[in-house]
Amino acid sequence: MDQKRKNHLRSIPAVNDLLAHEQGEKLVNDYSHELVVEAIREVTEELRGKIFNIELSGLKELKIDSKSILAQVQHYLESKMSDQLLTAVNATGVVVHTNLGRSLLCDAAKDKLLDVASNYSTLEINRDTGERGSRYELVEELLTELTGAEAALVVNNNAAAVLLAVSALASGQEAIIARGQLVEIGGSFRIPEVMEQGGAELRGIGTTNRVHLADYKNAINEETGMILKVHTSNYRVVGFSKEVELEELVDLGTQYELPVVEDLGSGVLLDLRDEGLSYEQTVQDCIAAGADVVTFSGDKLLGGPQAGIIVGQEEYIEQMKSHPLNRALRVDKFTLGSLEATLQQYRDLEQAKEKIPTLEMITRTQEQLKTRAQEFATELEEVITDNLTLEIKQDSSRVGGGAYPNEGLPTYVLALEDESLTAEELAEELRLHDPPIFSRISDEQVILDVRTLQSEDEEHIISAVQNLSIVR
Ligand SMILES: *Cc1c(COP(=O)(O)O)cnc(C)c1O
Repeated sequence: MDQKRKNHLRSIPAVNDLLAHEQGEKLVNDYSHELVVEAIREVTEELRGKIFNIELSGLKELKIDSKSILAQVQHYLESKMSDQLLTAVNATGVVVHTNLGRSLLCDAAKDKLLDVASNYSTLEINRDTGERGSRYELVEELLTELTGAEAALVVNNNAAAVLLAVSALASGQEAIIARGQLVEIGGSFRIPEVMEQGGAELRGIGTTNRVHLADYKNAINEETGMILKVHTSNYRVVGFSKEVELEELVDLGTQYELPVVEDLGSGVLLDLRDEGLSYEQTVQDCIAAGADVVTFSGDKLLGGPQAGIIVGQEEYIEQMKSHPLNRALRVDKFTLGSLEATLQQYRDLEQAKEKIPTLEMITRTQEQLKTRAQEFATELEEVITDNLTLEIKQDSSRVGGGAYPNEGLPTYVLALEDESLTAEELAEELRLHDPPIFSRISDEQVILDVRTLQSEDEEHIISAVQNLSIVR
C-alpha cells in the first residue's frame, strides 16, 4: 500500500479519543456507551474501506478529523434509532391503499385501542361466572346481527380466513372453483396456492371467461368437499363472459350437501349505489342468498383493523373454530377491540358513512371536494415560488383494495409542475419530507388528490413545498 493511504489510515482517531471528545461525551450521554462505541466502529470501518478503495486523487477529500467522524456517528445513531414505520400523507386519492396501511380507524376504534392497551380487559373471561370465556364470542353477536348469519369467527386477515375455510372444510377432498376465479390478489395471495396449502385438490371448471351451472354439477363426485366462489376483486372479465349466480350454487350445494363458500374480498355491509358506485353484493345479500360461509377483510371497505371475518352456518363455523390452524391465525385484543368499535357504527348506516374514515372519504361530495381543493390551493399559492405552477383540476380517485377496479370516483386535485424538477423529482422531494407525502403522477404533473387528505395534511404539504424553496 502506498504511503499516502497508510498515513491516512493512521490518522483516524482512536475509539477512546473519539469518546473523550466533547461531542463524543455528549453522544454517550444521549445514547449509551455501547451504542456509541458500536457506531464509531461502524463509521471508522467504513472510512477505512474508503481509504483503501478511493482513487488517490480523492483521498484528500475524505474527512478524518474527530469532529467530522463524530458527526457521522451521530447521523448513524439517529437513523438507527428512528422508527421505520412512519405516519404518512396519502394524497394519491386511493382510499384503501394497501401500501399505505389500508383503512384509518374511526374515533371510537382508536379510543378502544388505547383503552385496551392501558387496561386489563375481558378478553377471555366471562364476567357473570368469572370463568374462562372465549375471545371469539366478543364480536360474534354483533357480526351475526349485522350480517344475518348464524355464526361468526375473526382471524388474522382474509387470506387466513380462506385458508382456514379450505383446511377445515375441504382438506383431503376436492374444492370446485371456476377457472375465471383462480385469481391472484396483491401480495402473493393466489387461490390455487391457498388450496394446495389447505390440503384441498383444486377442481377448476369452465373456461377463463365462462362457466355454467352444468360445469359445477358435472364436477361433483364423492371426493368433493366444497364449492368455492371467489370475488375477482381486482380485475373483471368483460365481454363474452358468464358466471353462475350464488343462488344457483346454493341450490346445487343443498342438493349434494356441500358447503358453498364465498370469498368476497372487500366485503361491504352497505349499498354504495347512492354514492354513484355500481352495485356490489353486500355480505348480508350473500348470507340471504344462502351462502354457507362468507369471508371478507376487516380493513378494506369495512374500514376497520386488519382482520379476516368469517360468517355463515354454525355447523361450518364450528369446524373452523375447532381446527388447529385457528389457534395460529388468532387475532389479538387490539384487533377485537377496534373491530367491535368499528362494527358498532354500522348499527346506523348513515352514521357509519360519516364516522368511518374509509366510508367518509368515499362519500365526500363533489361540492366538499371542490371547496377543499380551492381553499388548499389558495393557501399553497401564498407559499409557492415562481418556479412552481399550480392548477386545480377535475380527476378521478380510486376506492382501492381490489374493490370497484373499473370505477373512478370523480374528484378535485391540485396539479403541480416545477420548472427545474421533473414530476418524479418533485414527487420524491415530497416523499422525503417528514411526514412523507405520497402523490401520484399524471401527464408530467404531480397530482395531489384532496379526497384522501386528513385534517392536518394540507399543513404538511404546505411545509414540504416551503422546504422545497429553501432547498433551491
Ligand atoms: C383482498 C382479498 C383477499 C386477501 O385479503 P387480506 O385481508 O388482504 O388477507 C382475499 N381474497 C380476495 C377476493 C380479496 O379481494
